[in-house]
Amino acid sequence: MELLVGGWKPFSLVDVTGRITFTVWSCGCNLKCPFCHNWKQAEWMNCMPFLETKFLEDLKESRDFIDYVHLTGGEPTLQPELVKKLSRISKEQGVEFSLNTNCTTAPALELINHADHVAFDVKVPFPQLSGLDGKSGTLWGTFEKCTDKLASSGKPVEVRVPVARGLTERYVDEIKRIVQKFDPEKAVVVVNPLVGPPLTEPRDEEWCKEHCYPGKFSPREEQFWKEQFPGYKVKVKRWLD
Ligand code: SF4
Repeated sequence: MELLVGGWKPFSLVDVTGRITFTVWSCGCNLKCPFCHNWKQAEWMNCMPFLETKFLEDLKESRDFIDYVHLTGGEPTLQPELVKKLSRISKEQGVEFSLNTNCTTAPALELINHADHVAFDVKVPFPQLSGLDGKSGTLWGTFEKCTDKLASSGKPVEVRVPVARGLTERYVDEIKRIVQKFDPEKAVVVVNPLVGPPLTEPRDEEWCKEHCYPGKFSPREEQFWKEQFPGYKVKVKRWLD
């Protein structure tokens, strides 16, 4: 099967917190998150074949200045060969490989072994944030297995908490339970207020009118999220200051 990507950016300061990455966007996703702003690529639109020769040329130019090759999506584990190929090429070029996965696919359980660093969202409440509602069934079980495996692997992780206005805060104990699977020395927690237009073009604008933020949390909410994960490095994101 032809490997499809949305493109890549040889230097990025915003994709892994505190790190410089060479970021590659893969196509396709198994979820339908209503806030997703990469939803066109997630639906296999605006994609192009992965051109290995050009990728290698660009990576050789930036490899001395980056911390990771970071593969994000979409959901990269829908294309296992892409994950394995980028992991192999990165290592051959002396660069660590970082994988952003939603951790809800069966291949993810094995493909995380190919990464030196893994980033994932804690999408809670899962039926609503995955956009699958009643069809989200077994996927949460896979997510639990994936995060258990990651925690026992001891790999560094970025645990991302997407926060939907008027919804996520009620489930904070469930989010803490997932975060606490991880050694605080190995995990960075990034709390992300979901934002909608005009800052992003989400899949479901109507959903965002109810559940997205204008650019940052209220001061009370920002303080609330800063206090939820004592012992962990916590970054509360602001899209606008
Ligand atoms: S998992 Fe990520 S790429 Fe897939 S729909 Fe959700 S936000 Fe979009």
